[in-house]
Amino acid sequence: MDFSISPDMQALLSRVRDFVNKELIPLEAGFLNKEFNEIEPLLQEMRTKVREMGLLSPHMPKEHGGLGLSVMELGLMGAELGRSPIGHFVFNCQAPDSGNMEVLHKYANDEQKEKYLIPLVAGQIRSCFSMTEPDYPGSNPVWMGTTAEKDGDDYVINGRKWFTSAADGATFAIVMAVTDASAPPHMRASQIIVPMDTPGVEIVENTPCMGHRGEGWHSHSEIQYTNVRVPQENRLGPEGAGFLIAQERLGPGRIHHCMRWLGIAERSFELMCQRAVDRPIGEDRPLSSRQFVQGWVAESRAEIDSARLAVLHAAWKIDQVGAPEAREEIGLIKFLVANTMLRVVDRAIQMHGALGITDYTPLAFWYRAERAARIYDGADEVHKVSVAKRILKRFTPSAG
Ligand SMILES: Cc1cc2nc3c(=O)[nH]c(=O)nc-3n(C[C@H](O)[C@H](O)[C@H](O)COP(=O)(O)OP(=O)(O)OC[C@H]3O[C@@H](n4cnc5c(N)ncnc54)[C@H](O)[C@@H]3O)c2cc1C
Repeated sequence: MDFSISPDMQALLSRVRDFVNKELIPLEAGFLNKEFNEIEPLLQEMRTKVREMGLLSPHMPKEHGGLGLSVMELGLMGAELGRSPIGHFVFNCQAPDSGNMEVLHKYANDEQKEKYLIPLVAGQIRSCFSMTEPDYPGSNPVWMGTTAEKDGDDYVINGRKWFTSAADGATFAIVMAVTDASAPPHMRASQIIVPMDTPGVEIVENTPCMGHRGEGWHSHSEIQYTNVRVPQENRLGPEGAGFLIAQERLGPGRIHHCMRWLGIAERSFELMCQRAVDRPIGEDRPLSSRQFVQGWVAESRAEIDSARLAVLHAAWKIDQVGAPEAREEIGLIKFLVANTMLRVVDRAIQMHGALGITDYTPLAFWYRAERAARIYDGADEVHKVSVAKRILKRFTPSAG
């Protein structure tokens, strides 16, 4: 294993850290207390600065204006950006757009790239990914109700989706729909580009989550698709390749999520330590003099460091042998890091006392918004079962 960071990469990481500290952290108070659409113009101004620094859309290959980073390098940058809730958006590498850009880069034809990918990479439009349905279990995604039936040169899409993140204000959705119900389960569905202004696409509502309905990029929509007609050429990849593409998207995508969560854990840890030394609990004693607090600091540091090594190892393995060979490591970090991050955020809140649940720090925001980390992109239990099955197979004599 080689986790060494090149001098160029170290310089890039310190530029990004400086930018987050000086430009983004001071803006957080606005983000935490206002609705997204109100603060978006300010975030777009910040994007202009990032564009001038040549750092916009860092996840893309160089020929598409990105930085052409390896999975591990991108993860390291993601951890720096994750220290602020607005880091990824300002650098235009936020979910779900970053994953959609990667899929379009690989599967879209030239015309689609011109129409959707180029403005997405430039940060001029937003997109969403519409797979999960209210009436079917997202944990068993091959079973879904949305269909895309062929009619002439078109597909006609019918179905209901929810938790389509960032659909509010998006220019297009990539919709997962059954194109051949008689095919084997993993080959039944396809991914299809659907412009959001196509007749029959209706955002039913932004689903209220944790006391917050959200808006714009920071929301999750329920969407009804009724007789939505799009050309068959809007399909990405071959018919029936929807799940294959989704798997490809989720492999490196999990590294991005995990490193962003580590950024959240690191920042929460910084806030926790600072509060411990700044907060007096007696005339001559700070909070940091208490053993409980010292325990939280030591445990948090140990847990963050172990999680970070596990993610770097998974990223390194993807870079060496590809995501399919690293499935066990990828599944393992998904639940490991989500839980580590949530524990550290929780301890930091506890350490801050009442201040911890105010919106004067990002802790309460993360407590609300990131609980979902244990659910999206596969619930903890699903990953645990699949990692355990792989491990146990090696101990089963009949499997060799
Ligand atoms: C904040 C957020 C953003 C999201 N964004 C998007 C998006 O942009 N696009 C999109 O398409 N979807 C999105 N999702 C949906 C997400 O992918 C699903 O919620 C997830 O796949 C789980 O599916 P479900 O909610 O239907 O839960 P279910 O499948 O109903 O599962 C419920 C629970 O059952 C348990 N469980 C399920 N299966 C098993 C098993 N095999 N073994 C043991 N226990 C099990 C788990 O505890 C699980 O949490 C988002 C979700 C959230 C919370």
